[in-house]
Amino acid sequence: MADENAPRPAVEETMIIGSGPAGWTAGLYTARANLNPLLITGNDYGGQVSITYEIENYPGFPEALSGPELVEKMKEQAEKFGLTTVYDHVSEIVTDQHPFIVRTASGKEYKSKSLILCTGARPRYLQVPGEKEFTGKGVSYCATCDGFFFRGKDLVVVGGGDSAVEEGLFLTKFATKVRIIHRRDELRASKILRDRAFANDKIEFVWNTVVTSINGEEGGSVNGVSVENTVTGEKSELKTDGVFVYVGHLPNNDLYHGKLHLDEDGHLITDKKTRTNVPGIFAAGEIQDKVFKQVATSVGQGCSAAMQTEKFLAELESEGYHGGVDPREFPSYAPFTATPTVTAKTPERELVPA
Ligand code: NAP
Repeated sequence: MADENAPRPAVEETMIIGSGPAGWTAGLYTARANLNPLLITGNDYGGQVSITYEIENYPGFPEALSGPELVEKMKEQAEKFGLTTVYDHVSEIVTDQHPFIVRTASGKEYKSKSLILCTGARPRYLQVPGEKEFTGKGVSYCATCDGFFFRGKDLVVVGGGDSAVEEGLFLTKFATKVRIIHRRDELRASKILRDRAFANDKIEFVWNTVVTSINGEEGGSVNGVSVENTVTGEKSELKTDGVFVYVGHLPNNDLYHGKLHLDEDGHLITDKKTRTNVPGIFAAGEIQDKVFKQVATSVGQGCSAAMQTEKFLAELESEGYHGGVDPREFPSYAPFTATPTVTAKTPERELVPA
């Protein structure tokens, strides 16, 4: 296991930013490739998975395990092969010079030949009156962290995706009743979770409904929500002791604005090889994945990014890189174009078997 306080090289081979499944996997693979990687955890240690009560669809763990347990296992495995973990938050990256520069909240500055960005995503807010005011006083985004405080209470969960239903099910361990308020009359959540929720006596669905405000006494905690039916327009009040918000996630892209190409939803644009538009900078996990967002897919993308990084560094060396040379000028690193090229329909003759 690498020592966090051991002296580091003047220029790192590779640095990984983020400590979710993509980051630890990139750490494991780059460590096993002898690249002496450094991973900076970020403030949200473990990412989204660390606030997930139970993971039952990550292969290799038939008995299921908790999110924090999985994070610790991934960390332990990567460190066993030489990954160095630094508990700090990246405040800035400089991408228009090489080696790249990484600055952290604690005032450290690193230089690195390559970067693997795994900064993940954070919960999206409902953005209704009362949400900010009552956060920590009945409004929560983490059932695993806060569910215990609502023993014997009535709760509301907002959203209709996997997170809302899965965490709603978890909350039934503590609450007497969990109402899942969804803006449509059909869940986005997967069938297995839908079926479990429909079979759970403590769960009640409030369909075609949006929360318009979260209410409570000034200085006190949540005592209800105002809702509106999206079909009839009817407005009403629901009493509740707590509101758990699961209306999706937003990519953690603050570091990349004006530096790397982002899509219209704020995800980093990468090609199939996990390359961003800057050669030597790769991205994996929810920061660049707007489709799958599973632990298993993040792990796969972290692995791909690490393998591409290894290839990039090997090519850099074979080009005779000794520092001071800008690899972006090497012809083999012509950045891939981030503007999607829409190609015409495949010519029909190519579809006809030979
Ligand atoms: P999601 O799939 O994007 O679902 C967000 C839900 O919130 C949707 O039902 C959406 O409604 C609703 N919503 C969005 N904005 C809203 C608003 N302003 N007001 C009210 N409702 C709003 O997000 P997620 O559930 O966090 O899941 C994210 C990803 O992680 C998904 O790919 C999911 O499969 C994955 N995940 C997987 C597991 C698992 O495999 N066990 C567990 C958790 C998450 P509409 O449906 O009408 O759009």
